[in-house]
Amino acid sequence: MNTERFYQLIFSVGSAVVTALSPTLPYIMLCTAAVLMDCWTAWQLDKRVRKAYPEKTSKNSGKFKSSHFGSVLITLLQVYMLLIFAHFLHIYVTESLPFNALKLAAGLVIGWQLWSCLENISSCNGAKWAQILQQVMVDKTERHFDIDLSALRELSGRRPDHLGDGKGTPMNNGRPRPSTLMDIQSKPAARVVILGTAHGSNVPGKRSPDGKFREYRFSREVISALKPKLEAKGFTVFVDMPADEVPSPQAKELSLRCKYVNGICKTFGNDNCIYVSIHVNAAGSESKWLNASGFSVFVCNNCSAASKRLAQSLYAEAAARGLQGNRSVPTCRYWSANFYVLRNTDCPAVLTENLFMDNRADVELLSSDEGKAKVVDLHLQGILKFLKA
Ligand SMILES: [Zn+2]
Repeated sequence: MNTERFYQLIFSVGSAVVTALSPTLPYIMLCTAAVLMDCWTAWQLDKRVRKAYPEKTSKNSGKFKSSHFGSVLITLLQVYMLLIFAHFLHIYVTESLPFNALKLAAGLVIGWQLWSCLENISSCNGAKWAQILQQVMVDKTERHFDIDLSALRELSGRRPDHLGDGKGTPMNNGRPRPSTLMDIQSKPAARVVILGTAHGSNVPGKRSPDGKFREYRFSREVISALKPKLEAKGFTVFVDMPADEVPSPQAKELSLRCKYVNGICKTFGNDNCIYVSIHVNAAGSESKWLNASGFSVFVCNNCSAASKRLAQSLYAEAAARGLQGNRSVPTCRYWSANFYVLRNTDCPAVLTENLFMDNRADVELLSSDEGKAKVVDLHLQGILKFLKA
């Protein structure tokens, strides 16, 4: 076979294929448009989610884009194969039946894509009509930033309070609801625990005088042991800044931590979340060994009654493990201070100071497996008892 004849053969086979498939072309175009419209609404949703939760989504934006592009291509190929299959099914098998398999398949694909579009435009959308659609549709917000809403939905038996895009009306207008004693006793226990890491490896100081013990590292070790234990008890757990390095200056770091916490509060409702920031205390500037020792826990001035109750629960567990130390503790058993992360978070929030990093005995205990286990356990039991009370 010479080259010319080869090309002729390819051409005629090609034409035969095009002729055989040409009836599917209008449907392929319609379905492609529907799939692309779904992509466009997903992209719009991604923009809304990013705006509402900036620091959470920026981390995953690259991942989202590449995986999304791949899944679009696969969807399109699957749709084309389905249409071609339906076309031949109609010609050779179901022609005598009162329906056209190709039209039916195309109708199903377009219907499915339009449903998906509606899910996209109603997710992470504070508007009334969107909330109504969300009664029957899937909330796709979580797909854009890894928050698992299903756990809460299951446990509380209702949809989480929504997911404002800043334009809608988020719960309590984004502010904590004033808590009365009655209110605390009657409301459902929180199901979401947000753990706060202390500082970062790039923050100066925050270490024992000999430099061996680092506060940032200890806090992250405690959190990585505590998180699975809380999850095993059925809680949804988030960590505000898990990476070793944190943004600087400190004002930026703290404001990002609060934004992260408040984004979760907005998603799940302030009453369903608690924030526990885990630190180690220092009596001086961490340059020499000093005498102060023991556990303490802080709430902010004018904090909610729930924050105080959470602090007391944690203190009781620390005391039960012999971690009181030599500092006289207020009779209420918590300290009040206007720490930024306590003052600017919308849910009940406490900050624990787990012994002193400039006390030799404390550092020795914190550096041991036994000491670390005590700190993990006091948080686990303190949180569990607070939530069950
Ligand atoms: Zn600290």
